[in-house]
Amino acid sequence: MSVRARMRRFEQALRERGLKSTAQRDDIARVFFGAEGHLSVEELYAAVRRVNPRVGYATVYRTLKLLKECGLAAERHFDDGQARYEPVEDDQQQHDHIICERCGKIVEFASQELERLQERIGRFLGFVVGRHRIELYGICAECREGRRRRPRSEHGVHRL
Ligand SMILES: [Zn+2]
Ligand SMILES: [Zn+2]
Repeated sequence: MSVRARMRRFEQALRERGLKSTAQRDDIARVFFGAEGHLSVEELYAAVRRVNPRVGYATVYRTLKLLKECGLAAERHFDDGQARYEPVEDDQQQHDHIICERCGKIVEFASQELERLQERIGRFLGFVVGRHRIELYGICAECREGRRRRPRSEHGVHRL
């Protein structure tokens, strides 16, 4: 979904809650939707300040909470314990994460095989499985080869 489409959904969600869109809230939402996923509040705050230096931390925090309540942001907790947020995609774009334990890089993937496995496990144990959450932890290629790079969060789901 494009940033514009997400912004329209945000405006609609605000209206449904009887809230008005404000310039600061819009700036925060636009940066969030356009960013490469998995931002902590601090990282989003830093990115928003580059666009609008008047925005305060509390406003960023509250807007993220609002985005979450509207179903437009998903909160993730990986091993480092920090809450991270990413835009929510459509259902067919569900993805899982593989995380480098050394540099913190987060890569997204989706696997048909995993979907099938989830169903098979559910059936075997008498469940109807609606969703899953899988986090794989390891060491990325750059770290293994000693090529140090800035930790980064790749966006774009690798399909297996
Ligand atoms: Zn790494
Ligand atoms: Zn993700």
